[in-house]
Formats: sequence, structure tokens, C-alpha cells
Amino acid sequence: MKVRAFPCAVGGRPGYDLEVLAPEATVQDYLEAVNRFIAEEYGGRLCSGGPGRPCTACCWERVPLTYPDVAAYLAEESIREQLAGAPSPLLAFLERFAHVVVDGPVVDVSLARKHDGSCLFLDAGRGRCALYARRPLVCQTYLCRRPSRRAARVRSRVVNAGMDELVRRMLLESRRLGRLPVMHESRRPCPRPEDYDPGPFRGRERFGEVLLRDLLPPGLWRDLIDSRRKGK
Ligand code: SF4
Repeated sequence: MKVRAFPCAVGGRPGYDLEVLAPEATVQDYLEAVNRFIAEEYGGRLCSGGPGRPCTACCWERVPLTYPDVAAYLAEESIREQLAGAPSPLLAFLERFAHVVVDGPVVDVSLARKHDGSCLFLDAGRGRCALYARRPLVCQTYLCRRPSRRAARVRSRVVNAGMDELVRRMLLESRRLGRLPVMHESRRPCPRPEDYDPGPFRGRERFGEVLLRDLLPPGLWRDLIDSRRKGK
């Protein structure tokens, strides 16, 4: 185990915190820590694909996407079949399954939602995620418990850097094909790939390829990896 999630009180209410146990911990280790915590605390009942009576609370909220989230969907056979023949599977996926908002140079990418506001992948009749094994990082790390300050910062940092890489690749791909970027909403759009820092997600397909220490600000990294020694 390279990352551990554990219960704590946040603002007097049930929360959770994180600690890093090994310097080579990756984003995947963080995800596994949170999934393990959910399984231990809730018997896996949280989330729209777990056993028993699943919870679909996260399926009605905005789900920001990172590049590895989209790469995981593109590896799914049922998605690939739907995108067959597209010149760019990435752009075709974003066009069909995402919601892209461009405001000047700023691009935001989230999963598309149905008219009732639920996620495109929610099978409302069964109360389940249609592609649970491929659900994005934001879904995997959604807990009905408050995160500690540092746990919230880790999640936010991973999502922001992972989305920057998704946007950078979308813009590069659009330029390569000589077409406009995917946009479902826009206001004076002028996004450029050069404006998006490649960061530690550059060229990576999976969360297991990205080290947390390369991704997190040094102070936050030190806090997480030293927490056991300091008895936090
Ligand atoms: S991807 Fe699945 S788990 Fe995530 S919001 Fe959509 S239906 Fe829910």
C-alpha cells in the first residue's frame, strides 16, 4: 500500500484524510486508497455500480474529465464501436460523450448530461453506471464525507492537471486535422495548445504512470508523506 485514506473529523463531521506511504506513489495508488476506504467503510455500497443498493448521488453532478479518464473510455469496446471510422477517436468521443465549454482561452471538459441533469452513463432505471469499471477519477473519489484540506487539494490538483492535458491534446489534434476544437458552448473562443502546460500527464495514458510527487506542490507533497512521522 503506497497511499492510505483514513477516517477523521472535518469541521466536527465525518471526513477522511490521506497520507502517502511511499515516494513512488502514483495517482493510481491514490485512487486505490480511496476505493479501499469506500469498501472498508461502506462495504462497497457507495457508487452506482457497487453491490447491494448503490448510491447515485455523484451521477447528478458535474463530472470533470482528465486525459486518462478519456483514454480509459476509448479502450472500452462498446465505445470504440460507436466511434468506428472517426478520423480522431478523441475528438469524436468529446463531441458525443462530453460537454466542452470554451470561454476565451479557457476550456472546461465534463461528461455530457441528459435532459434531466443526470450523467449520460447513468442507467436510471437500474440506478447504475452503465460503464462502472471505466468511471472517471472524479466519480471514484466522490465520497459522502468531507475531505480534509489536503485531501481536497490532492483531488483538485489531479483533476486540474489531468484536464489540462486533455485540453492540450484536443487542441493539438484539432490543429492536426485542420478543424475547430470541439465546443458545445463558447464565448469569444481563442484556446491554443501552447497555453496549456503539458505537466506530468504529458504523453501518459494511465494514472499509474503519473507520480504524485511530480504532480503536487512541494509543500503539499511533504505534508502528505511526512504525516505519519509527524503523527498528524
Ligand atoms: S460516469 Fe458513472 S458513476 Fe460517474 S457520474 Fe456517470 S453514471 Fe455516475
